[in-house]
Amino acid sequence: MIRDAEIITTDVLVIGGGGSASRAAIAADNEGAVVHMVVKGLFGHSGCTPVALGGFAAAFGHADPRDNWKEHLKDSCIGGGMINNQDLLEVLCKNAPSRFRELESYGSVFDRDSNQNYYQRQLGGHSFPRTCTSADRTGGEMMKGLTYEVYRREISVLQDCMAITLLKEEQTNRVVGCLCYDIKRGQFLIFKSKSVILTSGGCGQVFKFCFAPYQKAGDSNRMALEAGAELVDIELFQFHPTGYIQPEGIAGQSISEGVRGEGGRLYNALGERFMERYNPQQLELACRDYVSRCIYFEVKEGRGVDDKAVYLSVTHVPDQIVDQRLPAMLGRGLNYKIDIRTDPMYIYPSSHYQNGGIRVDTSWKTGVEYLYAAGESAGGIHGGNRLGSNSLPDLLVSGKIAGENASLAALGDYKSVDMTNFRKEIERAAEYVDDIVGQDNGVNPISTRNEIKALVWDNVGIARSKESLTHALNVLEDMKVNRLPRIGDRGRSAYNTEFMEALDVRSLIVSGECMARGALMREESRCGHFREDFPVPKDEWTANIVTSMDKEGAYQLKKIPVVQTHLKTEDVEMPIFPVCGMEPTPCEG
Ligand SMILES: Cc1cc2nc3c(=O)[nH]c(=O)nc-3n(C[C@H](O)[C@H](O)[C@H](O)COP(=O)(O)OP(=O)(O)OC[C@H]3O[C@@H](n4cnc5c(N)ncnc54)[C@H](O)[C@@H]3O)c2cc1C
Repeated sequence: MIRDAEIITTDVLVIGGGGSASRAAIAADNEGAVVHMVVKGLFGHSGCTPVALGGFAAAFGHADPRDNWKEHLKDSCIGGGMINNQDLLEVLCKNAPSRFRELESYGSVFDRDSNQNYYQRQLGGHSFPRTCTSADRTGGEMMKGLTYEVYRREISVLQDCMAITLLKEEQTNRVVGCLCYDIKRGQFLIFKSKSVILTSGGCGQVFKFCFAPYQKAGDSNRMALEAGAELVDIELFQFHPTGYIQPEGIAGQSISEGVRGEGGRLYNALGERFMERYNPQQLELACRDYVSRCIYFEVKEGRGVDDKAVYLSVTHVPDQIVDQRLPAMLGRGLNYKIDIRTDPMYIYPSSHYQNGGIRVDTSWKTGVEYLYAAGESAGGIHGGNRLGSNSLPDLLVSGKIAGENASLAALGDYKSVDMTNFRKEIERAAEYVDDIVGQDNGVNPISTRNEIKALVWDNVGIARSKESLTHALNVLEDMKVNRLPRIGDRGRSAYNTEFMEALDVRSLIVSGECMARGALMREESRCGHFREDFPVPKDEWTANIVTSMDKEGAYQLKKIPVVQTHLKTEDVEMPIFPVCGMEPTPCEG
C-alpha cells in the first residue's frame, strides 16, 4: 500500500512526457538539477505532441520579410478574442524562432526551400505564412529530437507512471512532492521533490469527440486546484473545424489544418463553398473557432450532408502538393479507402485544445510555491482561441522557462521540509486513494467515463446555453456525490488500468465542472465559447475568469481584468462572428 511506497528524492519532478515536459526537463538538467520525469503513457509516444500535424509558428519572416514577433503577437491577440495574457504572449512570440532552431541541434529535421530558408505554411488567423513544418508530421519530428536529447542527458524517465496527487506543506504554501503510481508494477511511488512542473496537458478527453489521446483527462487541472493553484478561462475550449465523421474507424480523428493551409475547401450538401458567404476574405483560413461555428450553422440550418457533416476537399489541389505536403493525411485516408486526391472528406468539428489552464506568471510559476506549469496545462497565453501552430512553440518556450525557474528555485536557498509534516501528507495522500484500491462498490469507471464524455459533448460543447450548462452541472454534481465514492478497482496488480480510470473520472468531473461553471458565468459568446442565449461578445467580458477550489472542494470563480500590455481592444478590428438565423456578416479580420 501507499504507506510502504518507494520514496524517491529529487530536485525537480516533471509530470508528463510530451513536448513541454521534455523541454522543461532539458532546461532543469542544464541548470544542474537532478530531474525525474513521470509519464502516464510511453515517453515519446503519449500525449498530443507526437501526433501534432500542421506545424510550428515562428516569425522568421522567411516566406514574407514583413513578418516579425509583433505581427505574430497581434494576430494571436485578435484570434484569441483580445483576452490573451499579452505578457506571456510576448515571451512566446519573441522566443519561438530560437526554440525552433534549437530543435535541429537535437536531431529534428524540418522542411526548407532551395535557398535553405524554412518552408512556411499559411494557417488560419496568421497574416503571413509563418508555420514551419515537417510535412504534416511536425509534432512527431519535434518529439524525435526532444526524446534523443532527454536520453542523451540521461534524465530519469519513468514511463507508464501516473501522477496522482501533489504533496504540500500547507504552512509554507509550497509543494513538496507527489504521489505517483507505477502502472507496470502496481507500485505506489512517493516523490520528495523540491520543485514540481505540471506538463500533463489539457482535458480533451472530457468530450465524446476529441483529438486528444486517452491519457489527457485533465489531471493537471485537478492536481493544481487541489493544491491551491488557480485555473484561468477553462471554459474557453477550442473546437477544431475538421474532424472525420466517417468512416467509423476514424470518426473523431483529426484532419490537419495543413489541409486547408494547402488549399482545402469546405462544401455543404448543396455543393456551396459556404465560407464564401460567411467570410469572403479569409474563406477556409478564418480562425478555427470561426470556421467551426460556420459548419455548426450549416448543419443546424439544414444544409449539412446527411444532417451531420460537411465536405472538406483537396481534389482541386495538384496531386504532387498533396503527396509532398500532406502525406500523413493522404495515408490515413488511404487506410480507410479514401483517396483525398479524388474523394472529399466527410467532416464535423471536434474538441481539440484546452485554451485555458493553470494560471501562471511570466516565470510559468503558479500561485503555489515551487509549483510550475507549462504547455497545454498552463492557461492565459492563447486567450479564447489558440491560432493553429501556436501550441508547439508555446511548449518549448514555456517548458524551457518553467524548467529553468523550477531548477533555480530547487537549487537556491531551499529550506528543508519538516518530516513530520511530510509524513502527514503521505497519510492524506493514502486516504485519497484508499477508497478506490481494491474497493469494487458497483460503479464501473469506464462506463462512467463514457457517460461524462457524452454529457459534456452534448451540453458544454460547441453550442451552450444556460439550460444545457445547468443540466451538465447537476449531473456532474450528482456523480460526484453519489457515484465517485463507489468507484473502485477490482484488485491491485500490475497494469491495473481500472485504478487509473477511476482517477481519470475524478479529473474529468473536475474539468467538466469547472468548464461548465465558467461557461455559465461568461454570459456572452467569444471565440470557441458560443452561448446560444448570449450570441454576441460583450465589452464587459473582455476579461478573464479565474477558478479556485477551497479545502472542502467548493469552487470560487472571479472575473479579473485582462493583461493588454501591447494592444488594447480599441486598437484592433475584431472579426464579427456569424449568428444563427441571421445573414452572415463578412469579417475583415
Ligand atoms: C491531432 C492533433 C494535432 C495537432 N497539431 C498541432 C500542430 O500542428 N501545431 C500545434 O501548434 N499544435 C498542434 N496540436 C496541439 C499540440 O499538439 C498540443 O497542444 C501539445 O502537443 C501539448 O503538449 P504538452 O507538452 O502540453 O502535452 P502533451 O504532448 O499532450 O503531453 C502530455 C503528457 O502528459 C502525460 N500525462 C497525462 N496525465 C499524466 C499524469 N497524471 N501523470 C503523468 N503523466 C501524465 C501524457 O502521457 C503525455 O506524455 C495538435 C493536437 C492534436 C491532438
